[in-house]
Amino acid sequence: MMKSEFSVGLLGIPFDDNSSFEKGPALAPDLIRKVLTSGSLNSATELGIELKNNEQWLDLGNLSFSKENHFIDDIYQPSLKFLAANTRLLSMGGDHSISHPLLKAYREYFPKLNILHIDAHSDLYDSFKGNRYANACPFARVMEEGLCDRLVQIGIRTLNQHQRAQIDKFGVESHEMKDWSTGTVFDFDGPVYLSLDIDGIDPAFAPGVSHREPGGLTSREVINIIHQINAPLVGADIVEFNPHKDIDHMTSQLAAKLVKEIAGKMLICD
Ligand code: MN
Ligand code: MN
Repeated sequence: MMKSEFSVGLLGIPFDDNSSFEKGPALAPDLIRKVLTSGSLNSATELGIELKNNEQWLDLGNLSFSKENHFIDDIYQPSLKFLAANTRLLSMGGDHSISHPLLKAYREYFPKLNILHIDAHSDLYDSFKGNRYANACPFARVMEEGLCDRLVQIGIRTLNQHQRAQIDKFGVESHEMKDWSTGTVFDFDGPVYLSLDIDGIDPAFAPGVSHREPGGLTSREVINIIHQINAPLVGADIVEFNPHKDIDHMTSQLAAKLVKEIAGKMLICD
C-alpha cells in the first residue's frame, strides 16, 4: 500500500428540509460523532487501517445553511473547495437530498464516476409532493444531469410503476431485494462513490429511520459489500439516520461503525 496524497474528511451535513415524511436526520451528524468519540468503539477498522492519529483522516465539522441560499449551493460550493484541496468526503447527512449537490461537485473532479447506492428506495421520483429536490428524488436529478457513468442500486424493495419507468428511462442497474443473493459482488471500472441510505439495512438492525421498510440487508452484508468494492472508493455519504426513531442508540452505533469501515476503505490507496 502506497502513501497516498489525498485526505479523507468527515463532513456533517445537518439538513433535513427535504425529508418528505418526518424530520430528524439533521440531528444525525453530531450523534454519530458522539459515538465515534465515546470510547465504545476502538479506532481500528476491519481492513486494518488505524484511524487514530492518522494524518490522512480529518474531521471537517458541519456545514452551515443560510436562509438566503438554495441548499444546493450550501453543499455544492464547500464540497468543491474540499475536493480542490484533495480532501475526499465522507459525508454524514441529513436526508437523502444532500447526495445530489455532493455528486454535482464530485463530477467536476472525477470525469469517470460510478455510484453504488444502497437504499430500500430507488429515489428516482421526478417530483415528490411537489418538490423536485425531495429525499425521494435525488437520483432522478443525478441521472438527468449526467453526474455518473453508472448507477448501481441495491437493497431496493419499494418500486412502483413510476419508479420502474424511471429505471428504464435512465438505464439504472437496480437490484431488488426479492432477487438478492448474499455475496453478490459488483465489478466496477473506475472510481466509486457510495451513497448509503441507512433504510437499505433491515429495520431490525437500523430502526432509526423515517421510512422503516422490512426485508432489507443485514449490517454484515452491507459491511462486506463496502469491503469488496473492487475500485477506488473516492467518496461516500451516510444518510437518513433519524435519531427520533432510534431504539437504545442501535442505529447511531451502526452508523458510527459504518463511518469507520467506509473511512478505512477510502483510505486504502489502490
Ligand atoms: Mn430510503
Ligand atoms: Mn434514500
